[in-house]
Amino acid sequence: MGYTPKSALEKGLETGELYCQRCFRLRHYNEIAAVNISDDEFLRLLTEVGNTNALVVNVVDIFDFNGSVIPGLHRFVAGNDVLLVGNKRDILPKSVKESKVRNWLRERAHEEGLRPVDVILTSAYNRDDTLDLVDEIENYREGRDVYVVGVTNVGKSTLINAIIKNATGDSNVITTSRFPGTTLDKIEIPLDDGSFIIDTPGIIHHHQMAHFIGPEDLKLVSPKKEIKPKTYQLNEGQTLFMGGLARFDYLKGDKQGFTGFFDNHLMIHRTKLEKADEFYVKHKGSLLVPPREDDMATFPKLVRKEFAIKSKSDIVFSGLGWIRVAKPAIIAAWVPEGVDVMIRKSLI
Ligand code: GDP
Repeated sequence: MGYTPKSALEKGLETGELYCQRCFRLRHYNEIAAVNISDDEFLRLLTEVGNTNALVVNVVDIFDFNGSVIPGLHRFVAGNDVLLVGNKRDILPKSVKESKVRNWLRERAHEEGLRPVDVILTSAYNRDDTLDLVDEIENYREGRDVYVVGVTNVGKSTLINAIIKNATGDSNVITTSRFPGTTLDKIEIPLDDGSFIIDTPGIIHHHQMAHFIGPEDLKLVSPKKEIKPKTYQLNEGQTLFMGGLARFDYLKGDKQGFTGFFDNHLMIHRTKLEKADEFYVKHKGSLLVPPREDDMATFPKLVRKEFAIKSKSDIVFSGLGWIRVAKPAIIAAWVPEGVDVMIRKSLI
């Protein structure tokens, strides 16, 4: 799924820096920083997991399932049990029913060929959640080692650090060892019975919204607080811009309220559909940010996908948020080329 050798190479160059930074943090703060590795290394690592009798904990970002998928994971883990952990649940509005989110994640996992033994929602920022997660892992691992896998940005490092801090209380628990044939460390957290929780490096998923914007705007695609939904009354022929990152056109239907679930700081602009193309060209990088001036050279063009909505649905802009459509409508959704946009049964 879009793992180009070129970017793998680029990432390989970056890895050196991050790797050293991780060593530093490990040594001095007993903390794990994210490490990014190339696709080949990642495949080798997954093969190692497949050859071991272990519980595989796959951490995904609830807001970006598609950007969280490890292609072919089900083949690599072979017969091993997979526990699917949906992270960042703290961002979900309180009105969202957890059971719905879990079912949705399970369905999507099935589409990817994964049959998780369970789906758990968690927040790396919530102590009780991380304690519960450790209990669940203990419950499912049945004496086996635990491999934690995930692409970058899903919050795997934050989660592992929270587990280490909260669950062990011991600052000297981490040991490191090398993956055979690579220069990468894996992080091993010893458990009481001689087994280990093994943290694996994250792989870059090139289709994440996060890769298209600068560091100062990352908070918009990685919200830190519960999302406050905002409703916009639209007539057909009106358009919403989510910064310059995404666009929503109301093509056909009665006047109705559309509710956006995005980071509270994301600027949403309303305009006329007939002027929208022009508006985007004119204001991208200024009124419509992110992307900013600096990101513009590498920012992909927006591509359009049309949806005919019959019953209450969410249009999901992968990694950014979603718009709830309550009544029948025909709409078009635009996202940077490579990022997913899809429809699902409404979560609320
Ligand atoms: P990794 O690349 O998977 O190791 O991800 P990081 O641990 O570096 O986290 C990526 C981003 O998500 C950072 O900005 C974190 O602060 C944020 N993050 C991680 N866990 C959570 C969470 O449970 N809730 C929220 N709201 N943000 C999180």
